[in-house]
Amino acid sequence: MEFVALGDTDDIAASCHYLGLDGTGLLLDAGVDPRKDGAASLPRFDLVHNADDRFVDHAFVTHAHHDHMGGVPVLYREFPHIITHMTDATKRLLEFLLPASARLQARRVREGSTQADPIFTEAEVKPLSDLYLTHPLQKPFKVTGLKGDTEVTAQFYTAGHILGGVGVELTVGEEDDAPRIFYTSDTKLTAQSILPGANYPDSTDVLILESTAGNDPEAAATNRDKELAKFTEALQTTLERGGTALIPVFVMGRAQETLAVLDRLKREGKIDAEVPIYTAGSMRAIADLYDQTRTSTPRVDSDFRVFGVDQKRLPRGEKRTAEALDGPAIHVLSSGMMFEPTLSNRIGRRLVEDPDNAILMVGYSKEGSPSARLLEAAQSGNGTEVVLNPEQGPQPVRCLVDDFRFSGHSNRDELLEVVRRLNPSEVVLVHGEPEARTWMAEHIAEIDDTITVHQPKGGVPIELGA
Ligand SMILES: [Zn+2]
Ligand SMILES: [Zn+2]
Repeated sequence: MEFVALGDTDDIAASCHYLGLDGTGLLLDAGVDPRKDGAASLPRFDLVHNADDRFVDHAFVTHAHHDHMGGVPVLYREFPHIITHMTDATKRLLEFLLPASARLQARRVREGSTQADPIFTEAEVKPLSDLYLTHPLQKPFKVTGLKGDTEVTAQFYTAGHILGGVGVELTVGEEDDAPRIFYTSDTKLTAQSILPGANYPDSTDVLILESTAGNDPEAAATNRDKELAKFTEALQTTLERGGTALIPVFVMGRAQETLAVLDRLKREGKIDAEVPIYTAGSMRAIADLYDQTRTSTPRVDSDFRVFGVDQKRLPRGEKRTAEALDGPAIHVLSSGMMFEPTLSNRIGRRLVEDPDNAILMVGYSKEGSPSARLLEAAQSGNGTEVVLNPEQGPQPVRCLVDDFRFSGHSNRDELLEVVRRLNPSEVVLVHGEPEARTWMAEHIAEIDDTITVHQPKGGVPIELGA
């Protein structure tokens, strides 16, 4: 069994892995690298084209994050015969997110913020959704290739993480002891507010495991309840003094989970039920998809509807915006890292100089991003200046700024728990920085030193089950 990562494996990059299984060629995901633009962000499909013994029959799209699905339209250009498999919820998300991505790529070229040509157009991507095959959870389906010498069966297992997210189990052969591969993709082992945790098979032979949080001891040192208590307190103090709290969020997943948290706090009387919550943009369309699929996908509470949470659309126009910013109020706005020219950047700049307000981060802040710069300035002391937007220039940080860990990824103890539960003989570590993968490899050896641990480099084939 041959494994080749077609994207970088040493960060959150273009997730796309080739598997050659006795004549059947499969791709696990077809993402784009968020650090790059245009064609440079795509996986190395040439590594399949240029090898005589590699051929692709089927692809799996594990979930609707761009680092896993952003290259799907290009996949059909590269391999027109390919069959792509996903869950129904992921298909609905792709139907919304891929055309939006095409429009954004075109806009960035128009505005001059990138030199790279778009990798696909809106017209090209729309008809593709007729070609996506959907499957329910834990129902096996055949993916044997045209030249496959052995039957290959696939099965989806819920991965927690985001709506529609799955891990993929592959069985190569029909005997009871036929070798199995399990690809976790991005995984969250414990429940979030809306989505329950991952539900994986009892065992496997080869485990292909994400390692995002492998080098994050802080994530493992805290837990959801502690973070929720901290978050509640920060929000309460802000609202009680009449301030406005901005919660910058990613539109896909974190926005909806945050609304569920706010709803619970209101229902429990921990924050005033009359305080308005403002939302905006595509997070509202995605919330609608969460609600449409609430009885057909795993939920903590299938009665909960994101649009059941009382919320107002952030108004346009200066006068009405100023009214919406007059506290106490809560603004749940994208983007999560406050990039310009997004709403969270625009609103954040209006709140940051007033000590009554708060900017509360609930997601990941990449080094150098506006949200990371803001956290850094806040930690250096009251009044430290930050540049959130060069056009505005430096601003003193006087509002409360803090971050809270409500990750959609398993922490590193949970990742090791996945290894313990599935008890594989081989582990392939992907989707994590080199330090994260090294930490994981060392600790997997402590669980069982007979487990072979691979840390594949992008483009370098490894042999599995050897
Ligand atoms: Zn993801
Ligand atoms: Zn990912």
